[in-house]
Amino acid sequence: MGHRESNKWIKSTCPYCGVGCGIEATANHHGGLEVRGDSQHPANFGRLCSKGLALGETVGIEGRLLTPQINQQDVTWEEALTDVATHFRQIIEHHGNDAVAFYVSGQLLTEDYYVANKLMKGFIGSGNIDTNSRLCMSSSVAGHKRAFGADIVPGCYEDLEQADLIVLTGSNLAWCHPVLFQRIRDAKAHNQCKVIVIDPRRTPSCDIADLHLPLLPGSDIALFNGLLAFLSENRAMDFAYIDQDTEGLDLALATAFRFGDIESVQAATGLDREQILAFYQLFAATEKTVTVYSQGINQSTSGTNKVNSILNCHLATGRIGKPGSTPFSITGQPNAMGGREVGGLANMLAAHMDFGNPEHTRQISEFWQTDNLARTPGLKALDMFNAIESGKIKAIWIMATNPAVSLPDNQRLSAALANCPYVVVSDCMADTDTLRHADVALPAQGWGEKSGTVTNSERRISRQRRLLPSPGEAKPDWWIISEVAKKMGFGYAFNYQSEADIFREYAQMTTLGQETLTPSSSGSRTGNHGQDVQALSRPLNLSGLADLTPKQYHQLAPQQWPVTQYDQPTARLFGNGEFATPSGKAQFIATDHRPTAEQTSSRYPLRLNTGRIRDHWHTMTRTGLSPRLSEHTSEPYLALSAQDAERFSIEQNKLVKVSSERGCILLRARISKECLPGQVFAPFHWNDCTTSMGKVNALLAGHRDPLSGQPELKATPVCIHPSPYQ
Ligand code: SF4
Repeated sequence: MGHRESNKWIKSTCPYCGVGCGIEATANHHGGLEVRGDSQHPANFGRLCSKGLALGETVGIEGRLLTPQINQQDVTWEEALTDVATHFRQIIEHHGNDAVAFYVSGQLLTEDYYVANKLMKGFIGSGNIDTNSRLCMSSSVAGHKRAFGADIVPGCYEDLEQADLIVLTGSNLAWCHPVLFQRIRDAKAHNQCKVIVIDPRRTPSCDIADLHLPLLPGSDIALFNGLLAFLSENRAMDFAYIDQDTEGLDLALATAFRFGDIESVQAATGLDREQILAFYQLFAATEKTVTVYSQGINQSTSGTNKVNSILNCHLATGRIGKPGSTPFSITGQPNAMGGREVGGLANMLAAHMDFGNPEHTRQISEFWQTDNLARTPGLKALDMFNAIESGKIKAIWIMATNPAVSLPDNQRLSAALANCPYVVVSDCMADTDTLRHADVALPAQGWGEKSGTVTNSERRISRQRRLLPSPGEAKPDWWIISEVAKKMGFGYAFNYQSEADIFREYAQMTTLGQETLTPSSSGSRTGNHGQDVQALSRPLNLSGLADLTPKQYHQLAPQQWPVTQYDQPTARLFGNGEFATPSGKAQFIATDHRPTAEQTSSRYPLRLNTGRIRDHWHTMTRTGLSPRLSEHTSEPYLALSAQDAERFSIEQNKLVKVSSERGCILLRARISKECLPGQVFAPFHWNDCTTSMGKVNALLAGHRDPLSGQPELKATPVCIHPSPYQ
């Protein structure tokens, strides 16, 4: 894909969801931006959703944090940076390097993420850097690593147009990744592909569904284990592929068969026999199948096993690494994938290298010229905030995220933040629930002012380009982190002049050790496609971008990794049947169906599901600026069935009090067919800055998947009552 840039319109990338749509923008006469879809960007080919189209309305100076502040008093950058460096140094000196932490965000650019990870893991010497992407897709990361040997999303968006069957499971694509939904809808009109939606709710994604399976919350593994058993019983597997390219089927099948008969699947999922068989038969019969999964799968105490139960079915049918055939995890945030690449998760090192691998830690230490590289994983998001509460972490730096709203059990965790001895927050906005706890507030550039790269859900790296001057004293996140690093005494390693320097260093890092692969270490063997192949060491290889000139970086066109040659298209991953595991074979994983962490009771008889709405993004600090976007849904609501409305005496559009073990909030009742009886749904966007009705995530517990650390956000027992306040 060549790059074109006119004099007037500058190409960049939408900062909201993980689709990563290309945009073109030009300054208007009011100091704002006109925005349109980039017709050449492979993610969207000119399409944009409502949020992308309203980007120009969210870039003004209104609500911006314009100067550094200490204890809410304006200070110079010099004073603020010195304060941060001094406090971090003193706390490390007195309490050790694990007494400090960074909590970062899928909103950061890859360059910001890289530098933050380098400072914490490489020089402070602690693994305590984790990201809000932990709440979004870490179960997929863990599932990919188990099955493929590395965190790899094998699909690309074109697969959606080439498939004959698309299974959307745990994904309201219509609202959460609207441009991908548009691509599927258009493909369906053209090629009549079938669409199956698996979701407890009847969401707008069901509008194009040939079949909707409203399974009970948390029963996904039972459904996919049943599918694996069905494929086996009906000999609908690709036995040549299984023999040649995979390991572990027997154990996975034995587990699946334990509860894999249709009656057991019916009992676990609450689905009709006909519905289940219709899904299984269509899946078995359709070679070109894409299974798209998202937060409904990931945000669960069984999230990793849910992911592997899906991957098992694709491996059993050999439907991976081929056009129109792939499992496909869609990330929530614009740069969740970029963060995964550069070590933004507490349990991973940069460039997909691992803590437990002495060769990796040696290579990184040499590359960064540090003798203080963290040797053990740090605390994952919720554990990090629990450690603040218990006093183990005494200083936290929160970048580009609003955990006081987005974390589950956020009232308790906000109280922990309020008691934390030292809190630094970098943000582009001046008033967020989290900033209210900051000892030091650092003004970061906003989307339209930043320059760097992001990676979308199909592993495509795209440039975000500077479109507007920075207001006030706002600075790039990478600059802020680097300046603190210098003041902490690590100047020699953080002397970056531009984001291009950082990207080049990161790309060079991905080449470490790649050339030392040997056939024995890489599991060389003959692939089922006849050629001699070698197991991929780390498919995340950007050697083709390791020597980019500043001009090439500026002009970088969107491209998927691995990139071994500048501006050359990437071969499809896993197309040769080779995986990044020690044996070179993909792994089936035995996955047991487990109940959700909390069960309904006579006191809390309903299940609360949470998620996004069409026109707002996360905690609304930016989309809340656009009146147009607030028209679609103007206040927080609770979707419930007519049966539950009658049972609990709730009236349409009246306020309802929703309570869990952790607290209560008020929401506006929306009685509809969206939720089945026994289940309710509420969006999580609103916060103390935008409503006095309470924060939805305050109702949720912090139960998490033991493998991924991802919290369960979609199955909280609650009770509802009519509110006396109307
Ligand atoms: Fe932005 Fe996602 Fe909408 Fe594309 S689909 S315009 S990336 S919010």
